[in-house]
Amino acid sequence: MVVIPTLSLDQLNEADQAAFTQLLDGIYEHSPWIAEATWAKRPFASLAHLKHALAQTVREASVAQQLGLIRAHPELAGKAAVAGELTAESTNEQSQAGLTHCSPDEFARLQQLNADYNAKFGWPFILAVRGPRGTGLTRQQIITTFARRLRHNADAERAECLRNIHRIAEIRLNDKFGVAPTDGNQILDWADALAAHTEGTGDNGLDGALPLTLTYLTPEHQSAATQLQIWMRVCGFDEVKLDAVGNVVGVYHGTDANATRLLTGSHYDTVRNGGRYDGRLGIFVPMACVQALFKAGKRLRYGIEVVAFAEEEGQRFPATFLGSSALVGDFQPEWLDTVDAQGISVRQAMLDAGLSANLDDIRALARQPQRYLGFVEVHIEQGPVLHALDLPLGVVTGINGSVRFNGEAIGVACHAGTTPMPMRHDAALAVAEIALMTERRARDDAHAPDGPSVGTVGVLHVPQGSINVVPGRCQFTLDLRAPTDAQRDALAADVQTFTTTVAERRGVDIHLTQTMVAAAAPSDALWQQRWEAAVSSLGLPVYKLPSGAGHDAMKLHQILPQAMLFVRGGNDGISHNPLETITNDDAQLCVDAFMHLLENL
Ligand SMILES: [Zn+2]
Repeated sequence: MVVIPTLSLDQLNEADQAAFTQLLDGIYEHSPWIAEATWAKRPFASLAHLKHALAQTVREASVAQQLGLIRAHPELAGKAAVAGELTAESTNEQSQAGLTHCSPDEFARLQQLNADYNAKFGWPFILAVRGPRGTGLTRQQIITTFARRLRHNADAERAECLRNIHRIAEIRLNDKFGVAPTDGNQILDWADALAAHTEGTGDNGLDGALPLTLTYLTPEHQSAATQLQIWMRVCGFDEVKLDAVGNVVGVYHGTDANATRLLTGSHYDTVRNGGRYDGRLGIFVPMACVQALFKAGKRLRYGIEVVAFAEEEGQRFPATFLGSSALVGDFQPEWLDTVDAQGISVRQAMLDAGLSANLDDIRALARQPQRYLGFVEVHIEQGPVLHALDLPLGVVTGINGSVRFNGEAIGVACHAGTTPMPMRHDAALAVAEIALMTERRARDDAHAPDGPSVGTVGVLHVPQGSINVVPGRCQFTLDLRAPTDAQRDALAADVQTFTTTVAERRGVDIHLTQTMVAAAAPSDALWQQRWEAAVSSLGLPVYKLPSGAGHDAMKLHQILPQAMLFVRGGNDGISHNPLETITNDDAQLCVDAFMHLLENL
């Protein structure tokens, strides 16, 4: 389809308020107040800037105004659709999604969902039916999303409706501006095609999203690696190879083939039932950049080395970061002898995959830091922060340091009916106090200069607990993370001190055993500034956040300056789940930001 632009930024920037509002008519359904209020925020440096400013106007509006905007929308496949009373834009979107061709069963189901939804929330269900790729969700995806969102509470659902309205507006604006996120589309298509390499098949019923599992060196993992090599060659990389641990490495030479290189990449393995962007996005974005450079016949003064790491998630074998560990010379020889659930060792899996399993070959993968400028990684946020702020990109200030403990409280199990409250030594309540204190203490760091801390009691178990017995034993875990090691240690020390206090006051023995500690990896100041400049160049506000999850960059941190860029995830930022999603427009912004970084080194 050839899109004829009917609108430009110059037109909007030069328009008076009335003309501006007229030009944006139909972008937000029956709600000219959004354009009117956004007019004052001119001039817009980019389409992304305009989209963000419009969303900002809605964020700043009252709840009543927001609900008015939501109520200005028609029901999906509702009476208005049937009676042909929709705006031209809505008719186009609903018919593209096939909603005008529902089977009688689907139509009945949608009517029931509409009725239930309206009864619960009092406004119509809003969904950007053209979806993350802009080509339309299937009717089944629409129905399962509808049913899932019916379980939200009202505040969360109102926010989700507004985000869908912004996505609808984004697609309508793209149409008016005659722009298509070509690289973003390419990335979503690569992600879909790579997700076809999965262990096991079948639909798990989550919005029609297929489950994806790809663990180290399975046949599917090997075929995914082959696919990546084929794509890298098509993109125009000069050297493409599979290394001794199964990483796929592509090099695009600089003007001098021996020039120092920028190292980038992320992992292509997944957790069980994972998402298709976790890790992979950080491979696809630089691939799209190299493809663009190659097509334009351009060489940079330095080389670009993209590594698709074979293993990061630690799913098949009891070791993690196998791929990036090899690059920093930290691959542990004993890992070769660890075995999976079937008793197959890493060594055997390597031999079966045609790799040498020779320790010298693995050691040879260690990179010489002086040959590289640094390491950058693009990653899906895997959290709800950017999504909730209507921000497509975020600059990572560092990867949180973490510490984990296993804990056990031993009190006295006794009769729930006969033991007076002051005479109890309840092990579970002691742990409950620790859990609440951990929450409170971590929240105290909300405005810490280096970023907030997080603390979680993920396991709280009363062995052989019974309804009429005061818990005599409670097993629990503690996971504490903070942007610096000092902040993490201060948090851990406070929790430990409190644990001692609770133990004494309640007459309960509590033991904490540290099971893991990982150093924080703060972003390199200069590389972080380069990401900030890149985001700024797109007309977007620079939002900085720490990474709560570990990433390959944490490993590369051992030998190179590093910094990461996050992109928001849809569906409340859910990750390690087939519902993980990003839009083609956000993927495009990642490519644009990466290109800016490359061209301004
Ligand atoms: Zn990841």
